[in-house]
Amino acid sequence: MKLVFATHNQNKFTEVKVMLPHHLELLSLDDIGCDEEIPETADTIEGNAILKANYVRDNYNLDCFADDTGLEVKSLNNEPGVYSARYAGEAHNAEANIQKLLKNLDGKEDRSARFKTAIALSMNHSKIMFLGICEGEIIKEPRGESGFGYDPIFQPEGFNTTFAEMTLIQKSEIGHRGKAMGQLIDYLSK
Ligand code: IMP
Repeated sequence: MKLVFATHNQNKFTEVKVMLPHHLELLSLDDIGCDEEIPETADTIEGNAILKANYVRDNYNLDCFADDTGLEVKSLNNEPGVYSARYAGEAHNAEANIQKLLKNLDGKEDRSARFKTAIALSMNHSKIMFLGICEGEIIKEPRGESGFGYDPIFQPEGFNTTFAEMTLIQKSEIGHRGKAMGQLIDYLSK
């Protein structure tokens, strides 16, 4: 069975591929020749995930799922949320996003945060949404080399390592995307 994961992000693609059963052939946007950036114009992560999944289904006639993730920081009124990728500007620069977040949190007592992933599946006539949440906190200085985005400053609850200090498998087992993916996999295996 072929299934498209609507992303150009190679890190995400690898993270998700290791979780899927082998009989599923996972294709990225590059694999199906989709070079364009699918517009993410919704004001919620759920809305953006639906936009991306439907875009592939409608334009390429292939079953597809898409994810959208936001980092919600409690003492910043849940910012950057749906704007996580462009927090420090349209350049989508992870290092600049991290520095802006650390600056805005400077002096704040409460550093609790959570990652939230929405996965929209668009398959034949089924359109379904799965949600995964990972609670944690924003540490004061980046640590670790793995992962991407805000991983070096996010420490999940119950751990003293950041996502960027974990292996892909460890991150998937406890992370937001892994939790949402677990629900998607359960659904696909029924
Ligand atoms: P996207 O729209 O789902 O690609 O996610 C928006 C932004 O959130 C990304 O550009 C990253 O900065 C950040 N992000 C998403 N997932 C993760 C993750 O697993 N770890 C760290 N940052 C992430």
